[in-house]
Amino acid sequence: MISLDDIQDANRRINGHVRRTPLAVSPSLSEICGASVGLKLENQQTTGSFKLRGATNAILSLHTAARKKGVAAASTGNHGRALAHAARAVGSRATICMSKLVPDNKVFEVHRLGADVRIVGNSQDDAQKEVERLAEEERFTILPPFDNPHIVAGQATIGVEILEDIPDVNTVLVPLSGGGLAAGIATAIKSKHPHCKVIGVSMRRGAAMKASLDAGRPVEVEESPSLADSLGGGIGLDNQFTFAMCRDLLDDIVLLSEAEIAAGILHAYEREREIVEGAGAVGIAALLSEKIIRPAGPLVVVLSGRNVDMNLHRRVVNGEIDPFGGDK
Ligand SMILES: *Cc1c(COP(=O)(O)O)cnc(C)c1O
Repeated sequence: MISLDDIQDANRRINGHVRRTPLAVSPSLSEICGASVGLKLENQQTTGSFKLRGATNAILSLHTAARKKGVAAASTGNHGRALAHAARAVGSRATICMSKLVPDNKVFEVHRLGADVRIVGNSQDDAQKEVERLAEEERFTILPPFDNPHIVAGQATIGVEILEDIPDVNTVLVPLSGGGLAAGIATAIKSKHPHCKVIGVSMRRGAAMKASLDAGRPVEVEESPSLADSLGGGIGLDNQFTFAMCRDLLDDIVLLSEAEIAAGILHAYEREREIVEGAGAVGIAALLSEKIIRPAGPLVVVLSGRNVDMNLHRRVVNGEIDPFGGDK
């Protein structure tokens, strides 16, 4: 799938284009956990999430001609933002396709980051079809958010940095959706430390990778609104890489309720002074809900992003803990 060499190449390639984020020890979480807990602050990454690593590595891995033609994706979230920024920064062009239903502020944000935005159709499927049409017609390269070796190798550079900062790391908690982040980090860490545990964390509502691993093949799950919106969506029924990597490399998957995720956002803000979105808070939430068995050495939690609507964030930290109702 991907090797340590691919990861080291990615690390050299993206050096200077992305932030080497801090790893901060959390005294309060260390006390709760009974072991040293470090927070890998990818919420402080440029564009507000770790997705910039994979996007930058993927664009820089293209041949010059393909890079000049440009890249395309249908993501309205963190991948779209990252691709827009990365393309502009390395002299390529990103075209992001969105449906008419995407709110203006998201359209504006991706446009502001330098991408060409195309508004087509009434669904994510329509936007994806437009991406495929553009790839055919304009010779753009489609860069998907997770199921691509260059994307996975880019996200894996987080694992390299964790090992540099905490060489005896025992357990890593990683937010899990399509699995590019978790597969990459697990590959990087386990190729040096086969016994280090890598645990994926998802929301209870619509955890596509967990359902797929349980079924033994990629399956679709019903989507519902969650505080961890960046963890929504399927893994692709024709998944090529991340399903098998997560199956082979993850030690466990923990699922969380909306109230538990809200508690993670609140803790990050009040105790760690960090703004994180729901997806970025799930590792902290897993520790607070005591779903992680006391590790025998240092534990690292990946805070994956901070792109949360600030009105929603305010409601969560004000104690309106379950904005989507039910599921306490
Ligand atoms: C994309 C994303 C994830 C999940 O990453 P996958 O590679 O899809 O598993 C987690 N947190 C944030 C903030 C993200 O944007």
